[in-house]
Amino acid sequence: MDTEIVQQRLLNEVESRELLKQYGIEQNECEFANNKSETLEIAQRMGFPLVLKVVSDKIVHKSDFGGVKVGLQNIEEVSEAYDQIMENSNKHDVSAEDIDGVTVQEMVTGLEELLIGAKRDLIFGTIIVVGLGGVWVELMKDVALGIAPLSESDIIRMLNKLKGYPLLDGYRGSEKADIPAFIAMIQKIESMVVKEKDILELDLNPVIIKKRGSGCATVDARIVMREQ
Ligand code: ADP
Ligand code: MG
Repeated sequence: MDTEIVQQRLLNEVESRELLKQYGIEQNECEFANNKSETLEIAQRMGFPLVLKVVSDKIVHKSDFGGVKVGLQNIEEVSEAYDQIMENSNKHDVSAEDIDGVTVQEMVTGLEELLIGAKRDLIFGTIIVVGLGGVWVELMKDVALGIAPLSESDIIRMLNKLKGYPLLDGYRGSEKADIPAFIAMIQKIESMVVKEKDILELDLNPVIIKKRGSGCATVDARIVMREQ
């Protein structure tokens, strides 16, 4: 049997954002800061509300570490959030030397949090996953799978399989989400993964979907690459 031993590397936030940008995948505004004074300077320039997130090779699930602070309304809140993030990371045994810094990000407000995943599989090829996202993803397990190449109607069929689909489609008079923008993002991810052979695995979670006509944007990406 063929076995393949593959060296893998998780892209850092700067690298993964650069790659997504090349393929026109919508992301929120985001800048990396090395230290507290840089953080405050960027925050002042970017405007409020903001989100602060820890950046460290040792931390994959940032919110489990108290490493994500959302809805920061002014510079005092940013300053306090920065200190809390450093303190929380230390509490979880991540030392100051293992923290590269933080990202200062635009806060995105939308209707729902979704996810797009992709995985390169030796047997099936490129597997695409879509679902309800955010921090409840493990609890809800509401996902649908497809195998590339996917036509638009394949993608629509996948979305229709989600239990949470009505939430996107004006359930009980609520606002309709921008499903066409989400479908377009899935198509861009599919073509990126098909083209970039070194991508082994990818997770955009969450993709925040806004009301129809307003688009969607990813605010957190995890990309695993094959190391040559
Ligand atoms: P992780 O998955 O590593 O814990 P995320 O970056 O996904 O960290 O953030 C966790 C949660 O915080 C998201 O599911 C979302 O609810 C919220 N969040 C993160 N970034 C933003 C943002 N820029 N705008 C709005 N909400 C955000
Ligand atoms: Mg996430």
